Amino acid sequence: MTTSEAASPLTRIDVMRPWLGEEEAQAVAEVIASGWVAQGPRVRQFEDAFAHEQQIPYAVAVSSCTSALHLALAVAGIGPGDDVVVPSFSFIATANAPSYVGARPVFADVDRLSGCVTAETVAAALTPATRAVIAVDQGGVPVDLEPLRELCDPLGIFVVEDAACAIGSRYKGRPAGAGAELAAWSFHPRKILTTGEGGMLTTPRKDFADRARRLREHAMSVSAADRHASILAPAEEYLEVGFNYRMTDLQAAVGLVQLGRLGQAVRRRRELAANYAVAFANVPGLRLVADPPYGTCNFQSCWLETGTDFPLGRDELMVQLAHDGISARRGIMAAHRQPAYLTRQPGGSSLANTEWLTDNTLILPLYHQLAMGDQVRVIDSVLRAAGPGR
Ligand SMILES: *Cc1c(COP(=O)(O)O)cnc(C)c1O
Repeated sequence: MTTSEAASPLTRIDVMRPWLGEEEAQAVAEVIASGWVAQGPRVRQFEDAFAHEQQIPYAVAVSSCTSALHLALAVAGIGPGDDVVVPSFSFIATANAPSYVGARPVFADVDRLSGCVTAETVAAALTPATRAVIAVDQGGVPVDLEPLRELCDPLGIFVVEDAACAIGSRYKGRPAGAGAELAAWSFHPRKILTTGEGGMLTTPRKDFADRARRLREHAMSVSAADRHASILAPAEEYLEVGFNYRMTDLQAAVGLVQLGRLGQAVRRRRELAANYAVAFANVPGLRLVADPPYGTCNFQSCWLETGTDFPLGRDELMVQLAHDGISARRGIMAAHRQPAYLTRQPGGSSLANTEWLTDNTLILPLYHQLAMGDQVRVIDSVLRAAGPGR
């Protein structure tokens, strides 16, 4: 670094930035010009393209992954008196979904390496009232679904995959989520494919898809788009208590463009993650999230674990990064420690791995436009923390 560069303030490196451009702007402009901005033909196109890409027969677009999780439990018939096993080590929406249908979330621990629940950690959390499990592809690491279904299917327990972070990840040669009876996806700007806000519910079951389509639209017998299409609109009926979880055509138009670039987006993330992996491979006390033996990650959240052999604790490393103008984030949260859940934690299985990971991991900057020089700055800052000679 030259003296003049050292003297100037460092530009800030963000932890994440959405990858959006002119094509998205053009797609939104076309929807506005069409005069139909609510759920309509673009949403239908986006659903078809998404189902095709994910190799799942049905896709139902909704307003967020949180609403997709709610609908997943609703169509699976989960309700009051039922327990739903969820990882505590996840964004809070995973734990909240059971409450929306009147069920109780029961926390399971996660695997120390993948950050995902396993058949063993779920088995330890099962109760006589368990009727569903929400398995999260944590930070884009695919969950090992097959052993989990081998455990749950014979017991009549639904496995819902919270694939909020998993678009572009693969499990045993197929897209993550393709093997689940119900999977929920997020298009929040923090995720790889974004529509501003938005989500999707996917399923191989037509009955689930049909009911989810109705429930997202007030459980109306005729969709608003179909009513608009006919001059003399048929009278609609409201078949049960539904919700307004619709996606707009403005969002779907953005989603279609983003879906077309998914392969490129995931390749770039995997390259950037590989750079971090090489840089930190031989540093004692550091472990970077990596592909599990049974699949590949999209590196939605590229997390780094600071172990006891590392000179700085996680929080101290974050302070050093911040001092160098680098924005990292604390690792994934633990829902059982949040005020909303403190008094609800049903006894039972240990959450030791959850507590270790949430206290000792941080998320490194990783986004499509991250410049090589900026990634080198992040690597240098971490290596400086590792001590002299690194
Ligand atoms: C982001 C996220 C959600 C919530 O997604 P929204 O689309 O914002 O509702 C749910 N679960 C997990 C694991 C997430 O990472």
